[in-house]
Amino acid sequence: MPSSTRQQSKLVDESVPADLNIPDNYVQHTLKTIKPLPPVTWSNWTTELDYLNVAILTLTPVVGLVGAYFTELRWETCLFAIFYYYVTGLGITAGYHRLWAHRAYNASLPLQYFLAIVGAGAVEGSIKWWSRGHRAHHRYTDTDLDPYNAHRGFFYSHVGWMMIKPRRKPGVADVSDLAKNPVIRWQHKHYIALIFLMGFILPTVVPWLLWGDAQGGYIYAGVLRLCFVHHSTFCVNSLAHWLGETPFDDKHTPRDHLITALATIGEGYHNFHHQFPMDYRNAIKWYQYDPTKWFIWACQKLGLASHLKVFPDNEVRKGQLTMELKKLRETQEKLSWPNDSNDLPVISWESFQEQALKRPLILISGFIHDVGTFVDEHPGGPHLLIKFIGKDATTAFFGGVYDHSNAAHNLLAMKRVGVLHGGAPHGLEDKMIPPSQRLKIARYTELTSPYNSSTAYSDGEGMLG
Ligand SMILES: [Zn+2]
Ligand SMILES: [Zn+2]
Repeated sequence: MPSSTRQQSKLVDESVPADLNIPDNYVQHTLKTIKPLPPVTWSNWTTELDYLNVAILTLTPVVGLVGAYFTELRWETCLFAIFYYYVTGLGITAGYHRLWAHRAYNASLPLQYFLAIVGAGAVEGSIKWWSRGHRAHHRYTDTDLDPYNAHRGFFYSHVGWMMIKPRRKPGVADVSDLAKNPVIRWQHKHYIALIFLMGFILPTVVPWLLWGDAQGGYIYAGVLRLCFVHHSTFCVNSLAHWLGETPFDDKHTPRDHLITALATIGEGYHNFHHQFPMDYRNAIKWYQYDPTKWFIWACQKLGLASHLKVFPDNEVRKGQLTMELKKLRETQEKLSWPNDSNDLPVISWESFQEQALKRPLILISGFIHDVGTFVDEHPGGPHLLIKFIGKDATTAFFGGVYDHSNAAHNLLAMKRVGVLHGGAPHGLEDKMIPPSQRLKIARYTELTSPYNSSTAYSDGEGMLG
C-alpha cells in the first residue's frame, strides 16, 4: 500500500511540467546559488568516479579487441555487424533523439516499440534518462546546466561527463510528455533485460543460427559493434560541437560537418539542429548524408510515421543569410574605403585653382582628387591626366574620353582630397558613389532613420512647412 501511494504521487508529479514554476532568472539564479560538487582531482577521483559507466566504457573496447584477436571475422558476420550497428544506432538517432527528445514526428506504436527495443541495444540508458539530459543540453547549451557542456573540452563532452559523478544536476527540462508514454515506461521498466537481449544475446544468436558463428556474432556484432555505436553517438556531443562551420548561427558551439555526419548516422549537421531542433531533418540538402532522415521519411511512406516537422524554409534561409552577411561584413571591414563628402574639406573654385598649381588636382563629379601618385601609372598615359589638372574631368572620365570601369572608379574615389564648394551639379549622384559602395552591409544603427539623416530630416521639414 505505501509503495503504491508513493508510486501514485510520483506519477502525479511527473505529469506536471518540471519547469512550470521556475523563476525567470532560473539559469543565473541556479548557477549562483547552487554550488557544484568540487572538481575531480588526483586526491578525490577514487570516490568521484561513476564505476558502472567506467566499467561499461572501458570493458567493451578491451573485450572487443582481445576477442577480435582470437576470433576469425567471417564476411557474413561482418555484414551483419555493420547492419546491426545501423539498426541500434537508428534506435538512438531516429528514436531516442529525434522522436522522443525532440518530438520531430509521430511514430505508430509498432515503430515506437521497434525503436525502444533496438535503442536499448545501444546501451546508452533508458529513453527517459537520455531525453531528459538531451533536452537540458539544448536548453542550456554551453553552460554548466548542460550535462555535456562543450566548453569543458572534447573529452568531457564525449565520455568524461559519464565517467564521473555529475558535478551538478542538469538544468530543469520538462519530460512530462515522456513520463506519460506507455512505450517509454515499458522500456524503462524492462531496461536491464533489454540491454542484455538486444546488446549481446540477439547479435550472438542470429549469426549462430544462420551461419554457425556464435563467437564472431558476440565479439563483432555484440561487443565491438556496441563500442562503435557508443562512440559514434557520443560524437554528437563532442565532435559536432567542435568541428566544422556555423552556417545558421555562431552564438553557440554546435557545428556542421560531413565527417561528423558520417560518424553519427547523419547527426553531423548540428549547427542546423540546434537552431531548428524539432525539424525531423539534420541535413536539409538532398545530397547531404543523413540516413536518420531517410529512415524517418521511409517510415512515413510505409505508414509508420506521420507529422514530420519541417521548419519553414523562409526562416531557415534568414539564418543562413545572416551568417553570410556577417562574413561579408568582416570582408568589408578589412578593406579601406574612400572618404565621403562629410569627412572632406570644402574647397572653393579659386582655392582649387590655386592649389592645382602646386600639386596635380583633378575635379571629377564634385570631388577634388590628388592624382600625384597615379600620374605615371595611368593606363591611358600621364598626358591625359596632366591636361585635366585644375579642370573638371567628369565628362572625360565617364565616357567622354574613356568609359572607366568599376576598378578605376573605386581607385579614383580613394584619391579624394576635397569637395568643391557649391556641391556637384544635378545628374552626378550616380557618379559620386563608386561601384564598390553601391551595395553595402550596414548595421541597423548605421541605416538611414528619420532622426539621423539630413535628407530625411529636410523632407520632414518640408512636410511641417
Ligand atoms: Zn548539441
Ligand atoms: Zn538534439
